[in-house]
Amino acid sequence: MAEIGLALVNARLAGQVRPPAPLGTYVLARHFVLLEAERDEYQAAVPVSIVHPPIEGLPDECPALRWKIPRPPLELMTHRVLPVFLVAARPAQGPRAEALANLIWDGLTWSVDYPEQDATPASVHTREPLPPGGVIQIHSHGRMKPFWSATDNADEQGFLIYVVIGCLHEEEPAILLRVGINGSWLPLRLSDVFTT
Ligand SMILES: [Zn+2]
Repeated sequence: MAEIGLALVNARLAGQVRPPAPLGTYVLARHFVLLEAERDEYQAAVPVSIVHPPIEGLPDECPALRWKIPRPPLELMTHRVLPVFLVAARPAQGPRAEALANLIWDGLTWSVDYPEQDATPASVHTREPLPPGGVIQIHSHGRMKPFWSATDNADEQGFLIYVVIGCLHEEEPAILLRVGINGSWLPLRLSDVFTT
C-alpha cells in the first residue's frame, strides 16, 4: 500500500512518517483508518473507518485537529456573523434564507468574508472561490436545528473547517462544527475551533 496512483494520496502505518501528499495520507492505525492532511493553518486527521477488531501490535493514532495559528475568537462569530445571519433568517426582511460566511486568516488577524451567495430557505451556495486564508466556512439553517444535511455533505468536500448554526431565534443558537478532508469528517467541539 506504499504507492497509490501518482501519489496524490499517500498511505502509511501508524507510527511511520511520510511526506504530505496533495490529497492527504491514509493512516492504518490500531482502531481507525484515518485520512490526514496539512495546510498552513492546521493539521487534521479524520476517521475514514473504524477497525474492528483492533489490529493488535499497531500503534494507535486518533482523529485530531491541531492548530498551527491562533484560533479565532468566538466574538467574531457571535458579534459579526450571527447578526448578519439573523437578518437573513428574519421573515420581515423578505423570504427566510440561509446565509454563508467565511472566516479568513491573513497571516496576522482573523476577518469575516461574505461572498456573493444564492440562498433559499433550505440551501446556500456561492460561486466565488474561497479567498486565500479561508479556513472556516459557516452557514446558517435559520430557525431550524443545525444538522449536516445531504446538501451539506455534498457541498462540504474540501479540506476545511465547517460550521452550521441553527435555532437563530432562540437565546442560545445551536452550533455544530466539523473538519473535513475530501468528504470524511471529524465532529468538533466549539472550543476545538474558537477561543472564548
Ligand atoms: Zn446546511
